[in-house]
Amino acid sequence: MGDVLDTASARLRDVGQRLTTSRAALVDALADAPGPLTIPAIRELRPDLAQSSAYRNLVVLEEAGIVHRVIGTDDFARWELAEDLAGHHHHLICSKCGRVDDVPASAGLERSLAAAAAEITRTTGFTTQHHRIDLVGLCRDCS
Ligand SMILES: [Zn+2]
Ligand SMILES: [Zn+2]
Repeated sequence: MGDVLDTASARLRDVGQRLTTSRAALVDALADAPGPLTIPAIRELRPDLAQSSAYRNLVVLEEAGIVHRVIGTDDFARWELAEDLAGHHHHLICSKCGRVDDVPASAGLERSLAAAAAEITRTTGFTTQHHRIDLVGLCRDCS
């Protein structure tokens, strides 16, 4: 966790910002979470964070490349640590309740994708740098 906060601090400095107590609390909450969090979910974990400043601070953290906004199937923005901080993973998105969970990337799937990406490079000249995979469906509670 110290490493993540050190990285966050350095990236904020790069864009002329500081790692304030509130921003550190946001990074800390996201680092502990099992998946991307909405602002109301963050505030359940950190009741001391004001709603308005939480949004503003998340935008600053996003601009600094520390957090990433996940687009789901409902109207809520969800936030997670940037992938170079959190590690590579995919998402399970429930189309009924909107819940978003992280799921580890399996080695077999990553190998298949690497082979597919190499084929795409041969046929189109496009070089894949990374990928994002969201599986959309029904969570256990909704199915
Ligand atoms: Zn659901
Ligand atoms: Zn993957």
